[in-house]
Amino acid sequence: MSLRSRLTTAFLVVVLGPVLVGAVFVAAIMSHLADSRGEALADSAVTMVDSTLGTICERIQASAAAVALNYRSGGESNAVEMAELVVDRAVVDGVVFSSLEEAGGAASGRDIGANAPAGAWVDCGETTGQAAAGSIVALGAQAEVQNPDGTIETFSAFRVVDQNFLAAIARAADADLILQDGRGLPIQVGSSDAGRWAFTSAFLPLSIGTASTDVTPMYWTLAAMVTASAACAIGLAAWLSRSTTRPLAELAGAAERVSDGDLDVRVPVHGKDEVANLALAFNRMTAQTQAYVQALTASRDQMRGQLGRLGQTLTATLDLDRILEVILDTAMVTAGAEAGVIMLVDVDDTDQLGQRAGDGNLGIDQPASIRLGEGIIGSIAAAGEPVHGRIVDGKFGEWHRAPTEPIARCMVAVPFRGRKVEEAEHPGRRGTPEDHTAPGAPGHDGGVLGVLVVYNRIAGHDFEAGDVDTLGTFAGQAAVAVENVLLHRQAQRLSLTDPLTGLWNYRFMQTSLRREAERSRRYQRPSALLAIDLDRFKKVNDTYGHPVGDQVLIELARRITGQIREVDLAFRHGGEEFMVLLPETDAAGAEVVAERLGRAVSSRPFKVNDSVGGLELRVTVSLGIAVLGEHADTATGIVAAADEALYAAKAAGRNTWKVAA
Ligand code: GH3
Ligand code: MG
Ligand code: MG
Repeated sequence: MSLRSRLTTAFLVVVLGPVLVGAVFVAAIMSHLADSRGEALADSAVTMVDSTLGTICERIQASAAAVALNYRSGGESNAVEMAELVVDRAVVDGVVFSSLEEAGGAASGRDIGANAPAGAWVDCGETTGQAAAGSIVALGAQAEVQNPDGTIETFSAFRVVDQNFLAAIARAADADLILQDGRGLPIQVGSSDAGRWAFTSAFLPLSIGTASTDVTPMYWTLAAMVTASAACAIGLAAWLSRSTTRPLAELAGAAERVSDGDLDVRVPVHGKDEVANLALAFNRMTAQTQAYVQALTASRDQMRGQLGRLGQTLTATLDLDRILEVILDTAMVTAGAEAGVIMLVDVDDTDQLGQRAGDGNLGIDQPASIRLGEGIIGSIAAAGEPVHGRIVDGKFGEWHRAPTEPIARCMVAVPFRGRKVEEAEHPGRRGTPEDHTAPGAPGHDGGVLGVLVVYNRIAGHDFEAGDVDTLGTFAGQAAVAVENVLLHRQAQRLSLTDPLTGLWNYRFMQTSLRREAERSRRYQRPSALLAIDLDRFKKVNDTYGHPVGDQVLIELARRITGQIREVDLAFRHGGEEFMVLLPETDAAGAEVVAERLGRAVSSRPFKVNDSVGGLELRVTVSLGIAVLGEHADTATGIVAAADEALYAAKAAGRNTWKVAA
């Protein structure tokens, strides 16, 4: 049985049951009241008839008595006078004068009024029990007077009992009357179809008919009302059950469609009741689910694209900045972050992190740097552990935000960890033709390459522990790619640098000089080349041994790089001879540099260690100067010219410089 039929049935039972019971009760009461009223009407009609007849009888008796009284006091003439008066006044219909002698009731000449009717009279003095005596024709009373002669004079006053007489009584009693006096066709007044009949024989034997109350129309009215109520109840039940079950059916249908994956579905909301609230909640829930699914789908598509881009980038390029950019983008998409930054340990200063990629609107597109242990990011890099949480009042836990760090709501930070990479000391790298990145940091720092940080989750919620795990795993993979680039750079660099001093090697010197000669020729700009050779170096080797000689070479390289500009390039030409290329420098400029270099070497002793202990050696250099465009136009030419000048300086007594001829 459906909910709708159950509701309809319950409503009908609850409403129609009492209506039907009430209707039966009302009908029973109506019938009872009609009966009681009929009875009361009949009783009152009988009483009325009896009392009316009683009054008439009293008047008849009084008339007879008055006539008799007048006879006694004034004789026959007085009696006649009185009789005429009562007849005139219609108190009686007639008065009969008779004596006992004239028995037989024959009319005497002195009778007044109507003729005494022949037939049975009912004597007002002797009531009841006269029904069976044949036709009753009159109602009368007698008064007797004894004459002085002893005879008895009788006076009979009467009212004729006929149709008119009965009609007057029926009018007074408001009832139908039938005289039950045994005649063939009884005298009847009023209609014969009265609802109720009663009988009286107080004066005359009369059947008294009164109208009975007809309750049939009321029954019909009641039935019509019950029918109308039933129709209303059925209509109301149908409306109620439909209006109750229709929203539920709509909800059920919608839920089914949602379960089939259709999240566009919305149910109509009728009114403001509980079901409407349910519908509203359902619509809200569906809309939220739809938004969530759309966001998930979009995020998945974005993630797919991002992963494809990441894979392509990681395999196709050795451009560190591009790789870091893609890594950051992927991390931001994965965590749903508003902004992010990647900071890598600085090559020149392993105590410092430099920003390598930044994205988002928190002002982190500007390059920034931060010392290890400083601010939030520096502290995270120093701790080397992934973290996540809120930044409250510029504080992340115990760590205070540095001025260069963005003002964000919450963050996740995971360190990039690399494999342990050993690298030779680089006393001088001034003038590296590419950028300064080299995997110096991993070798020194026990593996922290940098930090990946993402800020502010897009939906407004905080990051979760799951985000840290995801980003941690991702950062582990990404760190491998970053480290591979760094290693590749290192390998490339090693093939171009001298392992002992870290200066550019002979091969790179050739390349650089060729390029510079070409540039100088094209733009007609001077470039100077310094040839530097240690004086009497053989003696150092011979006296203190080769390892001490090596330390002298390393220190010399350090002092050379300490004296030249960023754009200048220092090379180890071979053995204990070095060359320095000074772009955009003429002979005069080169002379200043040569002078300064010579003093930087000779002014302070070289501190070295041999097997016995620390030593301080006094060392000098000789320098030769040649200028491209002035002394030679080619790489080999300029090297030869510088060498020649160097020999000239040697010849001049060493610890000095000479310009090529
Ligand atoms: P001068 O230049 O003043 O004429 O005298 P010198 O003794 O320095 O002579 P020269 O320039 O010919 O010296 C070459 C010496 O440099 C030979 C070798 O012992 C030393 N030498 C060359 N390469 C290295 C090296 O890689 N390590 C060490 N320890 N010594 C080297
Ligand atoms: Mg030499
Ligand atoms: Mg030498």
